[in-house]
Amino acid sequence: MQETALKIGEVARLAGVPAKTLRYYEGIDLISPVGRTASGYRLYGWRELEQIEFVRRAKLMGLSLDQIRGLVNAAEDGIPNVVFQRLDDLLDHKLEETERKMEELRAFRESLLEYRERAADAEARGACRCGGQGETEFCGCVTATTEGVTPPDLRVVQENGRFVKRAE
Ligand SMILES: [Zn+2]
Repeated sequence: MQETALKIGEVARLAGVPAKTLRYYEGIDLISPVGRTASGYRLYGWRELEQIEFVRRAKLMGLSLDQIRGLVNAAEDGIPNVVFQRLDDLLDHKLEETERKMEELRAFRESLLEYRERAADAEARGACRCGGQGETEFCGCVTATTEGVTPPDLRVVQENGRFVKRAE
């Protein structure tokens, strides 16, 4: 053990992960040092180094630390193919979530295009009276371009042939 043991600073340098993060991983029971030196320095083995590299890649896949811990534990249980199955499930969910977000962004983009068109229409109609009215009035150009803008938590849905606003 002693000959393959690395101090936290060496692990941090080799793995490209700050020592602070490694201490955090220990605190949440994700990756713990294999032991300590007599003077209390954390010691890590090559297996932990590989686990740290695995955590780094799994984070790039968008997995949470909880999910990653599940995978690390599953790998330690040593049951064949369990990690593959769990990873497959996690990535399925991640894909669904990503596709849903893409749909939402697509809809948001559609709204932006519509608002832009509305502003152009209002301009073409000559809706702006800025400079031509009293100080207490708000020009119609402002209203014309923001009309119909709904906060993101409200969505307009069709219900019995009518459009209604509904909170998500
Ligand atoms: Zn105006």
